[in-house]
Amino acid sequence: MRALTLTAHGGLDQITVRSDLPDPELAGPRDVRVRLTAAALNRLDLFVVGGLPGHANAPGWVLGADGTGRIDRCGAEVTDVSVGDRVVINPGVSCGSCGYCLADQQPLCLKFGVLGEHRPGTFAEYVTVPATNVQRIPDSIDDATAAAFTLATLTAWRMVHTRAHVQAGDTVLVQGIGGGVAIAALQICKRIGARVIVTSGSDHKLARAIALGADDTINYRTSDVAREVRARTGKRGADVVIDSGGTDSWAASLGSLGRMGRLVTCGGSTGPMLHTDVRKLFWNQWSILGSTMGSLPEFATIVAELRAGQLHPPVDRVFDLADGRAAFEHLASGAQFGKVVLRIA
Ligand code: ZN
Repeated sequence: MRALTLTAHGGLDQITVRSDLPDPELAGPRDVRVRLTAAALNRLDLFVVGGLPGHANAPGWVLGADGTGRIDRCGAEVTDVSVGDRVVINPGVSCGSCGYCLADQQPLCLKFGVLGEHRPGTFAEYVTVPATNVQRIPDSIDDATAAAFTLATLTAWRMVHTRAHVQAGDTVLVQGIGGGVAIAALQICKRIGARVIVTSGSDHKLARAIALGADDTINYRTSDVAREVRARTGKRGADVVIDSGGTDSWAASLGSLGRMGRLVTCGGSTGPMLHTDVRKLFWNQWSILGSTMGSLPEFATIVAELRAGQLHPPVDRVFDLADGRAAFEHLASGAQFGKVVLRIA
């Protein structure tokens, strides 16, 4: 099969299209194989290319977490989906049998892994996953939208609902609008009825966010975010901050939090190490929450929202699989608003 692969950890010049890889076979009776039509890039893919601590991918590694396509093979024990079904893929794969999995807390599974990082990915003509990792979608949803949907929306859904418990009337600060998780978090918070303030270093991205329903915007290159949030909330501060920037945004995220504020993070795109003044943490009674990916019930919920037309990921640009390296370069530039998608078939 044809796939976008990594020759060795390093720069984007290590990304190569290969057409000599074997088609993947089902690993067990509860697996399905999906013939992919489109896939989408995530910041995670850039981290995999660069190499993550304690984890090395073999040469010829197939990249990619998000994808959509049609099931072309089903294991003998698969009952919920059939060959020919059009599906989106949940990139988080868990063991299915441990206490966390049985309690529907799949992201806590000790064997939890992500497509393209721990298992062969979706930037390929075929991928195999457990049948529980796919959900059917109707033909009315186009390939790029379907491919762009899952990882960012699932991550944002768990952050907003399950971890931060955002309520109607809460003020939520979403840092770094333009990335997939931030845009999904904005849309989910507006569905709940929260007031959403977004930040970006680009006025163009802030204008796009207003069109998606943001109530207020702050350009972090020209304004002090924490001071602006306090000024625009009658000195109260935000109830919730959604942060995936890490090092560069952390001080502004904490400084924007009101009393009993909740800061939820799913990543550190600008760096992993953070500085927190514990006196402010306990005095203000803040909660700092980590979150990653989502559970199978959360996956089912977000795909129901997609089917109902309630959540719609903006697609920035679509590249052919053959131009995959250019797609990575576009993502790395940070210029995009919304998802970068690969057309496979
Ligand atoms: Zn498990």
